[in-house]
Amino acid sequence: MSTHSDPTRAAVRCEGCGVILVAEITGDDSIRPLGTSEDCVCGDGSFVRLERPATVAH
Ligand SMILES: [Zn+2]
Repeated sequence: MSTHSDPTRAAVRCEGCGVILVAEITGDDSIRPLGTSEDCVCGDGSFVRLERPATVAH
């Protein structure tokens, strides 16, 4: 199994059609949905992350 590239995956929701997808968050904090085009099936492409990376800020 390749562990060379391990992008952060998070659940995202499309603001256009409301579909919830799993996406990978790239190092540039770009959301690239998996299983559909980058612009979603509705062509909107505005995704909101539902889950935040497991970071602990204190
Ligand atoms: Zn959509």
